[in-house]
Amino acid sequence: MYTEAQVAELLKILHAPVTDFDCGTLCAPTNDGIPLCCDKAAIVPVLYKTEYKLLRRRSRLWRSYRPTNAHQRELMQDTRNCDRLCECRGVEHCERENRSIVCRTFPFEPYLDHDDELVGLVYNFDFEGLCPLVASRHPIRQDYIDQAISMWELAFSWSETERDFYHDHSTTLRRSFGQKGRRIPVWSRQGRRWMPTRRR
Ligand code: SF4
Ligand code: SF4
Repeated sequence: MYTEAQVAELLKILHAPVTDFDCGTLCAPTNDGIPLCCDKAAIVPVLYKTEYKLLRRRSRLWRSYRPTNAHQRELMQDTRNCDRLCECRGVEHCERENRSIVCRTFPFEPYLDHDDELVGLVYNFDFEGLCPLVASRHPIRQDYIDQAISMWELAFSWSETERDFYHDHSTTLRRSFGQKGRRIPVWSRQGRRWMPTRRR
């Protein structure tokens, strides 16, 4: 999918934090002191294989995920060919500059509209009720949004497969929001927008 050099470029672009405060303070107190997205028992990070190789050369932070039950082994089988399930050494050993792309993008993903245009970021609603930021009113930093959009623009310019993957995700999101009569909150370079689920 991406070369190591391309992954390095993507990592360079996105470094701003999501919020002005440490959002781990929202979820860690009810999760044994561990931010939920850094708890491998709750969420298993998926890295591109080349990303894993790159980060392994840079640091000892990452290793391959070691499943301990049947459900986790099943998860490994569902992983895309270009991806690798991984685990880090834990939040107390986190190295900001060696965080993965998914560490940096969570809990957002790119959103492509009806015309297949990347218009901004949406929450990953699979984590609604788990990550306290999802569907919340906490302000999101504009520099984070801008950097994440720039990163996805570059990523999509390099990989049609990745673009298609998120195109399909966005279509599914429109369908699910449309059924509930909800509009989709999207964080764009111009601020938050409420996107319709049907073409106007
Ligand atoms: S992104 Fe969500 S799950 Fe992760 S630390 Fe912030 S509030 Fe917790
Ligand atoms: S590398 Fe850091 S941000 Fe990523 S999961 Fe591990 S502790 Fe969390």
